[in-house]
Amino acid sequence: MSQAEATEPHAERADQGLLFVVSAPSGAGKTSLVRALLEVESSLQLSVSYTTRAPREGEENGVHYHFVDAPTFERMAQAGEFVEYARVFGNAYGTAAATLRERLDAGADLLLEIDWQGARQVRKRFPEAVGIFVAPPSLAALETRLRGRGKDSEDVIAARMAQARDELSHHGEYDYLVVNDDFAEALGDLRAIVVAERLRGPRQARRHASALAAMLAED
Ligand code: 5GP
Repeated sequence: MSQAEATEPHAERADQGLLFVVSAPSGAGKTSLVRALLEVESSLQLSVSYTTRAPREGEENGVHYHFVDAPTFERMAQAGEFVEYARVFGNAYGTAAATLRERLDAGADLLLEIDWQGARQVRKRFPEAVGIFVAPPSLAALETRLRGRGKDSEDVIAARMAQARDELSHHGEYDYLVVNDDFAEALGDLRAIVVAERLRGPRQARRHASALAAMLAED
C-alpha cells in the first residue's frame, strides 16, 4: 500500500464491519475485559498489534502481539503500513493497515486495544469508529492491580502510574466510558455497547433493506 492510500480516510461501505477502539490506563483491566468480551461475542475479532516491546512471560508472537525489532517497525512505519502507531513506555506499537481494511471490508467487527494517541489517529481515518475508554475506580485500585500482575519492575510500575494519569486525561475523547470496579458489571457494559452499536438504525436498515422494503411495499 502506498503512503497516500494508507493515510486516506476509509470510505464506509454498507456491509462493512464495525470498528471498536478500546483504551485504558495500564492496569485498568482492559485486557482481561476484552478477552472475556471476545469469548461472549465470538463474532468480534481482535486486531493483533505490532510492537518493539520484548514479550512478557506467557506472551506468544502472533497471538498477543507481532513482536518485531526497531528497524523492522521503522521500515513498516516509513512504508505507510500502519493505520496508526505510537510510542508508549519507550516502545513502539502499531496497527497494520492492510489486515484491518481487509477484515472490515469482509464484514468483520474488529476491536483495537490501543492507547489514546493511536485512538486519535484511528478516529481521523475511520470517523465511524466507536471509542470506548475503560477507567479504574481509583488510582489506588490501579496501583494494586499493577503490583498484583507481578510482571513489571518497580521502575516500570512508577512510570505506568504517571502514564495512567496522562491516559485518563483523554477519557473525554471517547464515545463511551466504562468504569471497571466490578468486573462482571464492566463486561456487561462493554457487551451492551457492542450490541447497541450493531443495532443502530442506519446499520440495521441497510442489513434488513429488502425485508423493510417488502413490508413497506405492502398495501
Ligand atoms: P502493553 O505493553 O502493556 O501490552 O501495552 C502498553 C500500551 O500500549 C497499552 O496502553 C496498549 O493499549 C497500547 N497499545 C497496544 N497496542 C497498540 C497499538 O497497536 N497502537 C497503539 N497506539 N497503542 C497500542
